[in-house]
Amino acid sequence: MFDAKRWSQKVAGQDCPVCAATPEAEDPLWLVTLPSGRVLLQDDADFPGYCILYFRRHVTELFELTTGEQGQLIEDIGRLARAISGTCRPAKLNYACLGNEVPHLHWHVVPRYPEDGWWGQAFLARSPAQRKILEPGKYERLRRGLRATLG
Ligand SMILES: [Zn+2]
Repeated sequence: MFDAKRWSQKVAGQDCPVCAATPEAEDPLWLVTLPSGRVLLQDDADFPGYCILYFRRHVTELFELTTGEQGQLIEDIGRLARAISGTCRPAKLNYACLGNEVPHLHWHVVPRYPEDGWWGQAFLARSPAQRKILEPGKYERLRRGLRATLG
């Protein structure tokens, strides 16, 4: 059930899990930090290369950014998407900015593959219980490849 008071607190940044995140070097999913924020590489077996870019400060909506921040963010998303495309060779990339669960501005950049099991559907059609973890060796190779491309 929607709790309006709790939602207002989350939007204001109270107990925000992104703002309270561990230092990047200690975050097992940390890939790189771009000018707009931290990028986490998901250990997702269906969508290898799936990344989330978390904006560097607590804002909820895109319109809360300055024009300069908006420009930098789209540049960083483009840079990340180019790296994922070059490294993972997906058939298509999906982009999503939702924030209904964690209202700290973040973008999902999701490579899609015809064999990913969800082709023809939104990547969020999959339930959390259906998520499969990428094997650690593959994850590390992917991370090295993406870091080399992102420079
Ligand atoms: Zn936050």
